[in-house]
Amino acid sequence: MRRIYLDNAATTAVSPAVLEAMLPWFAEAYGNASSVHTEGREAKRAIENARRQLAGALNAAAPQEIYFTASGSESDNWAIKGAALSRGSGHIITTAIEHHAVLHTSAWLEKKGFSVTILPVDAWGRVTAAQVEKALRPDTILVSVMAANNEVGTLQPIGEIGALCRARGVLFHTDAVQAAGAIPLDVQTMQIDLLSLSGHKLHGPKGVGALYIRKGVKIDSLVHGGAQERGFRAGTENVPGIVGLGKAVELAHASLDAHAAKMTALRQRLIEGLQARIPNMRLNGHPEERLPNNVNVSFAGVEGEALLLRLDLAGVAASAGSACTSGTLDPSHVLMALGLTEAEANGALRLTLSSETTEEEIDRVLEILPPIVADLRRMTAR
Ligand SMILES: *Cc1c(COP(=O)(O)O)cnc(C)c1O
Repeated sequence: MRRIYLDNAATTAVSPAVLEAMLPWFAEAYGNASSVHTEGREAKRAIENARRQLAGALNAAAPQEIYFTASGSESDNWAIKGAALSRGSGHIITTAIEHHAVLHTSAWLEKKGFSVTILPVDAWGRVTAAQVEKALRPDTILVSVMAANNEVGTLQPIGEIGALCRARGVLFHTDAVQAAGAIPLDVQTMQIDLLSLSGHKLHGPKGVGALYIRKGVKIDSLVHGGAQERGFRAGTENVPGIVGLGKAVELAHASLDAHAAKMTALRQRLIEGLQARIPNMRLNGHPEERLPNNVNVSFAGVEGEALLLRLDLAGVAASAGSACTSGTLDPSHVLMALGLTEAEANGALRLTLSSETTEEEIDRVLEILPPIVADLRRMTAR
């Protein structure tokens, strides 16, 4: 039987239209965008077209505010280190549920002498603008709050935090890697200074990302060398990747509302179906303010890793709330920040849908999952 892929928060399939847009740029039109000849200028035009596609989807004031990188992780690193290093010292505010690309970058800066405040979140995984306001100090240089969480799907009040930061003259970065292509993003109305996104989370290719840098915002560059990306990010451009990212962002933006409606309906079918079939299940993350495609649940008395392996054997690809490192289960920092016990965090299962997910697949999971949970509970009860 065809496998059911419900791990779209980890990565997505490149959509056929994206692949088609990318193909000519590998072996037919392979010019270096820095070259002055026809082939080079063609590559340059393709990159500038992608820049316009991203600027359009984010409502950036100008395409020149979009910079291409090699990943969402690089964009997060660039935004945070670049802002910090250009100022030399100061205070950074972020949250306990950020991706490691933000948290580990902040920890690294703390070792270099910057000070960092990590805001706690509520039981749904939310922070408020009031919390950010309380944490602001005269030396605060940057606030970094993700738009949507990759594990539990919780959305943050990005517009309110953006307005606060703009009013206080503090830079605001948002990791929108999960949010881009899933919920509306408008860098102008949300008053965002720096925004990270990544190709492979929205049916684009792996190994390409982008950072929006609002005009006038000064950050240091991290990759030195050639004059690519207006001299701010050296390295010969990944033309097929950038073309694919542009196409993926454009397609996602064009069908944002319809996609969200479809995902929300399928998500609720899955959540409600599981609730009806499995006792002692908890939904992690905010019940409504969550990514349309995210389901994260914990089953008391079940280890997520064991559940994953059984699901995999049954043809379902999912993700757990813990990572098995050197024989011990490391509970997810996100689930712990939501106040789950270690046992609850270790029993978490993340199922993330995509536009390719069908109702039949959801119903199939509703048949497959409950007996596996019951079986694992019997085993641990013995
Ligand atoms: C996947 C992800 C990243 C990292 O993006 P890569 O392109 O895989 O490096 C950063 N932040 C969030 C929220 C993510 O989900």
